[in-house]
Amino acid sequence: MINGKSIIIFGPPGAGKGTQSGLISTMTGKPQVSTGDMLRDAVADDSDVGREAKSYMDKGLLVPDEIILQLIKIRLSRDDAKSGLLFDGFPRTIPQAIALETLTDVSMVISLVVEDDEIVSRITGRRTDPETGEIYHLEYKPAPQHIRDRLLQRDDDTEDTVRNRLSTFHKQTAPLSDFYRDKGILFEVNGSGEIKQVSSSIEAIIEAKTGD
Ligand code: ADP
Ligand code: ADP
Repeated sequence: MINGKSIIIFGPPGAGKGTQSGLISTMTGKPQVSTGDMLRDAVADDSDVGREAKSYMDKGLLVPDEIILQLIKIRLSRDDAKSGLLFDGFPRTIPQAIALETLTDVSMVISLVVEDDEIVSRITGRRTDPETGEIYHLEYKPAPQHIRDRLLQRDDDTEDTVRNRLSTFHKQTAPLSDFYRDKGILFEVNGSGEIKQVSSSIEAIIEAKTGD
């Protein structure tokens, strides 16, 4: 049963979490919450949180847990969070995962497994449409010709920063796989196939789980 419970989409930067979130949200009805997007909104607003967060994001380091948990608590207090949320890019540390347990039940963690070598080309070719939020890739998911001029590249999607983000992932975030595996709610998906193949694997997992 996944009603009333939250879902996590987990994986290294560039694994395809944002790309696959729409499908999961549509299938489960749970609104997607991306802490990366929330932080980028705070940076764009030039708020105190945004200014502090940017100094970490630019270096490929994690923003302190207190800031992230403050954002998550506010988000969970909204009406549409009552039947659970889909977390994308959260939790990223063991303390964040432990804090989340006091805030909502987590029914499943879908973990996209992608090798480091593939991550760098995915991240450096990532482009986002500011009007729709759609995520494209120069090679793997080209945007329609007529919108190409308006696409944006994230400040932190440079080769140097990606290497730091990957090392941060292996040190601080990867241990969460074991944390959720021990609870029996980790579902691993090969994230290195084509976008549609990955979507099919995720669909199969959610359908099996919904039938529980
Ligand atoms: P990606 O899509 O590449 O995984 P995100 O958009 O999720 O990246 O995050 C961008 C940056 O925002 C991270 O490198 C980190 O600095 C910060 N960030 C996002 N979510 C968290 C979190 N849960 N804990 C700490 N820092 C975070
Ligand atoms: P994350 O949210 O995990 O950081 P994204 O969903 O933003 O990852 O994907 C990172 C980049 O890789 C984007 O440019 C996206 O179009 C591309 N991408 C996502 N999934 C795949 C895939 N299965 N194969 C090739 N490229 C992909």
